[in-house]
Amino acid sequence: MSVQRPASVTDAFLQELVSRVPSTSGGTWKLTEVYTGEVLVELPQSTPADIGHAFAAARTAQVEWAARPLADRLAVFKRAHALFIDNAQTTTDLIQVESGKNRRMAIEETCDPVMVMSHYLKRAPRLLAPVKRGGPVPFLSTSTEIRQPKGVVGIIAPWNFPFATGISDSISALMAGNGIVLKPDNKTALSPLYGISMLEEAGLPKGLFQVVCGEGPDVGPTLIDNANYVMFTGSTATGRVIGERAGRNLIGCCLELGGKNPMIVLEDANFDEVVQGALFGAFGNTGQICMHIERMYLPRSRYEEFKTRFVAATEALNLGASYDFGPDVGSLVSPEHKERVQSHVEDAVAKGATVVTGGKARPDLGPAFFEPTILEGVTKEMISGTLETFGPVVALYAYDTVDEAVALANDTDYGLNASVWGGDVKNACLVGRRIESGNVNVNDILATAFASKGTPSGGVKQSGVGARHGDQGLLKYTDVQNLAVLKKQVMGARPGQDYDAYVKSMLSGLKMMRKTRIR
Ligand code: NAD
Repeated sequence: MSVQRPASVTDAFLQELVSRVPSTSGGTWKLTEVYTGEVLVELPQSTPADIGHAFAAARTAQVEWAARPLADRLAVFKRAHALFIDNAQTTTDLIQVESGKNRRMAIEETCDPVMVMSHYLKRAPRLLAPVKRGGPVPFLSTSTEIRQPKGVVGIIAPWNFPFATGISDSISALMAGNGIVLKPDNKTALSPLYGISMLEEAGLPKGLFQVVCGEGPDVGPTLIDNANYVMFTGSTATGRVIGERAGRNLIGCCLELGGKNPMIVLEDANFDEVVQGALFGAFGNTGQICMHIERMYLPRSRYEEFKTRFVAATEALNLGASYDFGPDVGSLVSPEHKERVQSHVEDAVAKGATVVTGGKARPDLGPAFFEPTILEGVTKEMISGTLETFGPVVALYAYDTVDEAVALANDTDYGLNASVWGGDVKNACLVGRRIESGNVNVNDILATAFASKGTPSGGVKQSGVGARHGDQGLLKYTDVQNLAVLKKQVMGARPGQDYDAYVKSMLSGLKMMRKTRIR
């Protein structure tokens, strides 16, 4: 392929980025440019001993970091906020070369850590301040809720939003006083490595944020065994493995997993907006967004109208390998992932589904391109009828009643995101509330929920445990210390006091306690 690599992505820059990854074995992994399949850099692979050392270094740095006043820690992120924006184009270059996504999605990805910093810079002082509560004996006792950092957090990130999942999820953990050891996907280690170098330029102490690289099953166990908490984003199958190991170690974990997300279009929806939304929902980031749409439910009365417009808009999409803002849709992440997407389509067709448009790989554009694809007649006997495809493939269904649409939307093991479109917003919200999903977007696909950093965002059912964003997106990285003070020993019977008299006074004290305003 004759696509010109971005000028910022020089060999020297790439070498500098990967030099941060420890590898005493000298083993490397060939990190390739997705559009061309050419090797960009040899990525060092970390051994269990390297991972142990990374945790030890992060732990040493963490003690000093946690002892700093919160204002000093937050000052780092104020500077980082500006740096991340100033360097957004370079970050975009790295995201594109390693993931193959189109530039429009890559630049949007760079905004996520910035938005997360913005939110927690405002919210962290309140969340991390000690909260004084009343003790059991009014006036004579207090209990104070103190937030302590967990220690060193292990973060395991996927390839689809490598910069957002690798960096954004570390920000609140660092603000709370933790150290980090991050394991990015081998394919997409460059942009998170660049994010860490920007954080250090902003003043993050060296050593506090470590990176280790390797195949998941090689690195994962040692990482989890050394961590005080694990933040995982990836598939449901891997999430189960991570959760089991964290459980055995009795450490907490947050699991952000896959989806098979439905979109319900109501009769009164604005179809101009629905078609635009559907394009992004199905094909944004080449269908590799955990919250993207793989199932669309249309009222039978408007099915053909939607189908005609959606197919025409899909066929007008410009698919291509380019480092400018031209293409509407970019590549899949790898030839292996393209094979997986293709196999889902072939399985559906073999079992009776119809390809309305698309359905083919596009080797003329690059080694991992696949056409935006619309299917009809997908059933639960087909792989893509139940499992996440994670590519630019969407199935259309007609429904007769809203109850039926809700039942179909809920007929899945996943529960990550749903999208409901309707002119009567109140009614659309009522429909949305009936969907078993951690996120529901009314008259949007996913951005409104995901960009609302003040509200927790996570999956239910097999789509996850816990959430990012919101207060719990920071508090999960802390332990609560209950610091209780009794000013005078008044609990229990006094020496020589008749026990019946003591019990009587205690019971009447309990009655009073419910009525006082002291909590
Ligand atoms: P994956 O589960 O294969 O890999 C995710 C990460 O886990 C990678 O870094 C991988 O190397 C590592 N890993 C794999 N096996 C491991 C093991 N045994 N122990 C420890 N680490 C291991 O997922 P993927 O294919 O890279 O990513 C796509 C998936 O991620 C999709 O299912 C998508 O829906 C999901 N995802 C979810 C969210 C969310 O917020 N819910 C966001 C992005 C992606």
